[in-house]
Amino acid sequence: MPNTDSGGERAGKPPDKPQALAFVLFGSPGSGKGTQSKLLGQLLGIPQISTGDMLREHVRHGNAVGTAVEEKLKAGILVKDEVVNALVEQRLAESDTARGFILDGYPRTAAQAEKLCGMLAARGIPELVIHLVVDYNVIIARLTGRRQCPVCGTLYNLVSRAPKVSGACDLEGAKLIVREDDRESVIRERLEEYGHQTRPILDYFREKGKRIYEVDASHDPPEAVFRKIEVLIRER
Ligand code: ADP
Repeated sequence: MPNTDSGGERAGKPPDKPQALAFVLFGSPGSGKGTQSKLLGQLLGIPQISTGDMLREHVRHGNAVGTAVEEKLKAGILVKDEVVNALVEQRLAESDTARGFILDGYPRTAAQAEKLCGMLAARGIPELVIHLVVDYNVIIARLTGRRQCPVCGTLYNLVSRAPKVSGACDLEGAKLIVREDDRESVIRERLEEYGHQTRPILDYFREKGKRIYEVDASHDPPEAVFRKIEVLIRER
């Protein structure tokens, strides 16, 4: 029997609402996936699941997973599929995902995409892929323009969120720094990985007949990009 009941609390209610969806926010590093998936999570009241955030959390805790992935994160190299797949599988087993969820930064390889499709098929949850399309030059400008205050952690961007005084934190006055994984050589590594391993997943999804919504996210501010996402979700 197909699993059409996405949550126990809905049992007995007429099927007036579509079932849970898995939103896959897809795009290059610097495309704004994190920002858009947070906004979408707030709008729909469903969790945003970022594999990058989950991995950084493990590094902060200094546990076995954190120790195993720390160097890869610093170098902008993809973490092993088994590690990431296991983290996502555990996360999707939590009850707050029953009404749907947003994936940010996953899947990033063909093996992850296959794993995801298997997990979703087993739960009867369809995916909706949103591809944030951004010009390469804009991506480079965004990523190389990222600066952080070493005292309070506030993030700036020389392109879109410049500090009031050049090179200094608005709050602390401290000299802004470039984060380790925002160094140019690492940025190049992250973009190459995206081109070789991640972008081809779009073809995999297309071949499997999955829906992919393309959103131009090059020049508009985040709120305007989000309005486009809202419209396509409403009209789909
Ligand atoms: P960005 O999209 O800017 O590269 P993320 O926060 O999504 O940033 O990811 C940071 C790092 O975490 C990646 O460079 C990679 O090392 C690791 N990572 C995140 N998600 C995955 C994934 N799905 N598979 C493998 N490694 C991942």
